[in-house]
Amino acid sequence: MQFENKYLANVYAEVEKRNAGEPEFLQAVGEVLESLQPVVEKRPDLVKAGVIDRIVEPERMIVFRVSWVDDEGGVRVNRGFRVQFNSAIGPYKGGLRLHPSVNASVIKFLGFEQIFKNSLTGLPMGGGKGGSDFDPKGKSDGEIMRFCQSFMTELAKHIGQFTDVPAGDIGVGAREIGYMFGQYKRIRNEFTGVLTGKGIPYGGSLIRPQATGYGLCYFADNMLADAGKSFKGATVVISGSGNVAIYACEKATQLGAKVIAMSDSGGYVVDPDGIKLDVVKQIKEVERGRISEYAKRVPTAKYTEGCKGIWTVKCDIALPCATQNELDGESAAALVKNGVIAVAEGANMPSTPEAVACFQSNGVLFGPAKAANAGGVAVSGLEMSQNSLRLSWTAKEVDERLKGIMAGIYKNASSAAAEYGHKGNLVAGANIAGFLKVAEAMLAQGIAY
Ligand code: NDP
Repeated sequence: MQFENKYLANVYAEVEKRNAGEPEFLQAVGEVLESLQPVVEKRPDLVKAGVIDRIVEPERMIVFRVSWVDDEGGVRVNRGFRVQFNSAIGPYKGGLRLHPSVNASVIKFLGFEQIFKNSLTGLPMGGGKGGSDFDPKGKSDGEIMRFCQSFMTELAKHIGQFTDVPAGDIGVGAREIGYMFGQYKRIRNEFTGVLTGKGIPYGGSLIRPQATGYGLCYFADNMLADAGKSFKGATVVISGSGNVAIYACEKATQLGAKVIAMSDSGGYVVDPDGIKLDVVKQIKEVERGRISEYAKRVPTAKYTEGCKGIWTVKCDIALPCATQNELDGESAAALVKNGVIAVAEGANMPSTPEAVACFQSNGVLFGPAKAANAGGVAVSGLEMSQNSLRLSWTAKEVDERLKGIMAGIYKNASSAAAEYGHKGNLVAGANIAGFLKVAEAMLAQGIAY
């Protein structure tokens, strides 16, 4: 990582020293600091108050043992995490991830990104993230329940509706949120909106399951419209086939595009006739099966082993919706060679720095995660509002608000980019716009935290 600005170079060197061996976290911090160069030049007051030195250090990091009993009676041990990164503009807010790759670096990168994403939504939410290296794949319902209960037994001590409000992420959907909510209520003896992504009967918001995928397409639609383009008649490739990917596919199709490929960590399917989403939903949401099943059920589709190859499928729009660093420089070059016009990130940090550079230098419209996938946390914020008001908005009402929020995020990111000398660069624009609001709040609240 190279910084022209000496102050930023020193901040990054300190972060590197303090967080050695945490590549994902360093990658996320490096990208934000790079964008902040023009801000540092314009705002010496923020430098003097040490806002940037402080924002890269979590306010609190909780690491804990999660022990549970499997179906055979064996004792299993996992590690749980919650990073409470920044509470300058609201209670900590961010999802919980259950995946064997979870470690301190992954949770800190996600928590750091969440600060700026939440700020961009315009709602009062600080940044946090959590999870565990527990692997939900192949576990029975009972095992998932016992794990979630044990996880929440410790987490309950650190969260609350006014303190920290977790949600779902990879491996955490409505089922897991339900088990965790039940355990929180049991321990605290209170019914509050301590988690979002809840089921509708007990305080969930309509459109929350769809929000990240729908929001991604609303954001991309704004980005495309600004360039005189649209989803209509475009071919789309979407990686992943989880929550974000499924609803991105649904909305892109509604907006007139044809989604021709989807994947999971095992491989990808190409269906030139257009992905039949009801088949994907049956396999993934009902049967919790593999995407390879799709090709067995739909004669026009072909399955290929290995997930990286999906980026060699020719398309107009690419929506990476699986996981971090899934799209590298080589994959980006393949997309560019095949004429991609826009890439919008549904997953968090799915494109490597080399991939982002490749898109930007080839004039591909590029929507970075913290702006493009903020729809999920935005509707989580709306779920918190509904819980506080003790009422439920209609699906239409929530969807309209989501659309408005995504249009606002696009506008803010794109005007911040222009104002700070990076017209068209939404990576810089999103980082700057997200940062400035949090920075003003930190400045106003003094230094002793
Ligand atoms: P899900 O668990 O529902 O789905 C994840 C999907 O990604 C699955 O298809 C999974 O395949 C695939 N995947 C996971 N790891 C890998 C890997 N190493 N290589 C290839 N594919 C992989 O998670 P979500 O859809 O909720 O989350 C997807 C991304 O979106 C994450 O980056 C998350 O942080 C981000 N995000 C999610 C939000 C939400 O509201 N849910 C909000 C904002 C961002 P398999 O089943 O084989 O593991």
